[in-house]
Amino acid sequence: MSNSTRTDTATADATAPIRNFIDGEWTPATSADALDIMDPGTGAVLGQVPLSSASDVGDAVAAAKAAFPGWRSTPPVERARVLFRLQGLLKEHQDELARTLSREHGKNFAECYGEVQRGIENVEHACGIPTLMMGDTLEDVARGIDCETIRQPIGVFAGITPYNFPVMIPLWFWPYAVATGNTFVLKPSEQDPLTHQRVVELAREAGLPDGVLNVVHGDKAVSQALMEHPDVVGVSFVGSSEIARIIYQTASAQGKRVQALGGAKNHMIVLPDADMDLTTDAIVSSVYGSAGQRCLAGSQIVGVGGAYELIRDRIVEGAGSVKVGYGLDPDTFMGPVISGAHRARVEGFIETGEREGASVLLDGRGYTVDGYPDGHWVGPTVLEGVDPAQTVGREEIFGPVAGLTRVDSVEDAVELMHRVEYGNATSIFTTSGRAAREFRYHAGISMIGINIGVAAPMAFFPFGGSRASFYGDLRAQGKDAIAFYTDQRVVMSRW
Ligand code: NAD
Repeated sequence: MSNSTRTDTATADATAPIRNFIDGEWTPATSADALDIMDPGTGAVLGQVPLSSASDVGDAVAAAKAAFPGWRSTPPVERARVLFRLQGLLKEHQDELARTLSREHGKNFAECYGEVQRGIENVEHACGIPTLMMGDTLEDVARGIDCETIRQPIGVFAGITPYNFPVMIPLWFWPYAVATGNTFVLKPSEQDPLTHQRVVELAREAGLPDGVLNVVHGDKAVSQALMEHPDVVGVSFVGSSEIARIIYQTASAQGKRVQALGGAKNHMIVLPDADMDLTTDAIVSSVYGSAGQRCLAGSQIVGVGGAYELIRDRIVEGAGSVKVGYGLDPDTFMGPVISGAHRARVEGFIETGEREGASVLLDGRGYTVDGYPDGHWVGPTVLEGVDPAQTVGREEIFGPVAGLTRVDSVEDAVELMHRVEYGNATSIFTTSGRAAREFRYHAGISMIGINIGVAAPMAFFPFGGSRASFYGDLRAQGKDAIAFYTDQRVVMSRW
């Protein structure tokens, strides 16, 4: 890999926009419009992202369409070998990737390293494609007649991904899409697209043929062009529920397959018999890790009966001791939020909460960090007396804010959760197996933690919510990913 290529992409200077990746080449966007990519901890400009046009999308889809016949007829075991090589390169560069990621996203190094690890695990899982993609057969479905199913790739898929996991979430999608023999066009988040550029460089180094994976940078205009393109057969999306709904409606109206993962409002239910130290650690790290910018972040802490006062005081103490700072400083637990606009949004939620009757037990508004006057800081915040009748009790805040509520029973906790439209994740903290089992049975939420604050399914299990947190049928990762990116043909034969 030449140094000049790297300068054009992952280590872009602030003067030239990063490039799209089309048909194996780093290609400048045709439009001159671009946005700054910021370091949210310092406010420094790290580079620029182009706002590509529909014609750039057309070029990328054409390259992906042209690459499809050759790639689909490449034996799965050979496709898997490219991913094996990519897995090795990602491991080799994990430190470097985590550092770039921390700079453009703001979260601490350990969180970034963990995110890259979760991405690598998806590449590892996709390496099993020769087995994962197998169909079924049954002899003699009628006398002398056999029946088999074959899973076949479909064509060009598109991915549209959010800012909060800019390495891992694209890797929920394109490794499975290409392992199954499809080709892919990715539109990463325009807020932090740099680290994934490096991932693409590594994919090329691993031997991914030209046109199999393409990247077009930009904003909603690029998403729109992808959704409307007649040669795109399906769309994988992750982002806020408002946009997930638009993507699902628009792309499915065009006859495409869609999986659209949306936002979240996750409840953490604490029973009086819980191990309060373990519970506090799990909740504090769930709420404040990544400055609350995770779809699995705890948002509403629900104390059942006598658990309420116990957990409230511990959460306030734990939140107050969270070390806020620059992501690459070694003792930082919580970094900044992604942008000044997002900081204003989170602070606006805290204000609304106060106005609607919540008590502010810990206030993160106007937070500063020594040495970083231009960072987008919001301090850990705790609001008491929050329920779904209030904006902060029902809407996704996506910042370091815990809402506290007291209920009398687990049934009341479930009823409270169901008054919120989201259905992404929830956790229960208890030492009672029976209570946990009852909760799991009735929760009606897709990802459930039992004494776990961030119930993140590993690569071989499906990832995705329900209700307003998910639009579609097949989720990300696991067997769902294989089903989403393939069509089953059923063959009946008599000889
Ligand atoms: P976002 O919805 O603002 O943007 C997501 C992507 O959609 C970006 O690539 C963006 O450019 C594009 N986009 C924005 N507006 C669009 C429009 N009108 N039409 C088409 N495309 C558009 O989300 P974000 O702020 O980048 O990410 C945070 C959100 O993602 C949160 O709501 C979070 O809960 C959610 N999220 C969900 C999961 C999950 O597994 N369910 C995982 C991670 C993040």
